[in-house]
Amino acid sequence: MAALLGWALCVAPNALAQTGWHVQHFALQLEPHFETRSFTGALAMDFTVQDSALQYLDLDAGDLQVARVQLGTAILAFERNAKQLRILLPKGLATGIPLKITVAYEGKASSGLRFDADTQQVATAFSTSLWTPCLDDPAVRASFALALGLPSGVLSVGNGERVSEPTGTDAKVQHVWQLDTPMPSYLYGFAAGRFAQARQIAGATALEFFGPAPFTPQTLPQVFADTADMLAFYAEKAGVAYPLPAYRQVLLSGPAAQEMAGFSVMGVRYGTRVLANPQAIWLGAHEAAHQWWGNGVTNRSWRHFWLNEGIATFMTAAYLEHRFGAEEYQDQIEAARTKYAALKEAGLDRSLVFPDWDAPTAADRSLVYDKGALVVHELRQFMGEARFWKGLRDYTRTHWGQSVETADFQRAMESSSGMDLRVFFKRWVYLQSE
Ligand SMILES: [Zn+2]
Repeated sequence: MAALLGWALCVAPNALAQTGWHVQHFALQLEPHFETRSFTGALAMDFTVQDSALQYLDLDAGDLQVARVQLGTAILAFERNAKQLRILLPKGLATGIPLKITVAYEGKASSGLRFDADTQQVATAFSTSLWTPCLDDPAVRASFALALGLPSGVLSVGNGERVSEPTGTDAKVQHVWQLDTPMPSYLYGFAAGRFAQARQIAGATALEFFGPAPFTPQTLPQVFADTADMLAFYAEKAGVAYPLPAYRQVLLSGPAAQEMAGFSVMGVRYGTRVLANPQAIWLGAHEAAHQWWGNGVTNRSWRHFWLNEGIATFMTAAYLEHRFGAEEYQDQIEAARTKYAALKEAGLDRSLVFPDWDAPTAADRSLVYDKGALVVHELRQFMGEARFWKGLRDYTRTHWGQSVETADFQRAMESSSGMDLRVFFKRWVYLQSE
């Protein structure tokens, strides 16, 4: 995600913990309705129960209108409270046995699912519970399958792999996507529209670019000319190859700036800017960095959001250094330092580990991105070039596919380098005086 564009990073305040049960897989059938700017959904959730006394389970469900909940063929009672759906379970469910609950629901366009009728565009944005029941908690991972019913002539991008070519009638075409790697639900999403498309191969990774008119199969590769280099750079610094067969980038009508599992979305203005100035690739580089820092290694809770955004913002600067030289890196770091200095001056400096992330202010977001990136830069200076990059690599490889907290980052950098970083983290991260 990118704070530069004022992206609303308000996270579900009451992110739900899974207690006594565990989700494995979400399979969603979603039908967007362009005429009414609404949608209908049918979610199937595979899960197991660990506690036979479990009476209910809670899902995040935004303002969705839930019509029916079933366990197999049995209809279950449910309650709505605030943004959650509480599903009441039958007594004495067997533990450890695969179970499937289905939820039929409807919803209306919102910040989480946007329609653009002119381009027949429909796309998701943070957060996922605005378009499907799920668990917004970033520490919960599940695989995800999506079947989208779309008008003919519309292209779609979803998570993971396109399972088959779209099939159906002129009126409604099924697009099926599947993400086999369990991922946090905030990385689920899709984008569909009357896009032009271009494709390249970069090593083992297919690169696909999408955008509405006036973008063309000729101009899209110009917008995304550096993508292969970005992925190679991050893979080398991470010590982890890009994990999926394809990486897709989509330009959307209207504002957009978000990473998702296997793809990212940006506004069409990003494409226009890059065509005018091929150096204006900050956003593309930032969202690509998240495929490692954010998606591959994920903050356990939003309290440690700086691990996602501070590291991704720092890695964006590091990529620009690799691509355009040291001066560009210094400009990025000085910009972060200036923003941080202004916050400090205004008395708004805080620990990068937040007591909660229920109602973050603009200053809090700037701390996470700008101070976060600056702290990683200062760590680079403090540790020295070789030790820092080895540490970042060890951190990324050790925690790949896992949830992390700030202590994990510190521990990985310390054990990799043999350095004692307690004073550094106290000063820069936790804002504690000696
Ligand atoms: Zn970001």
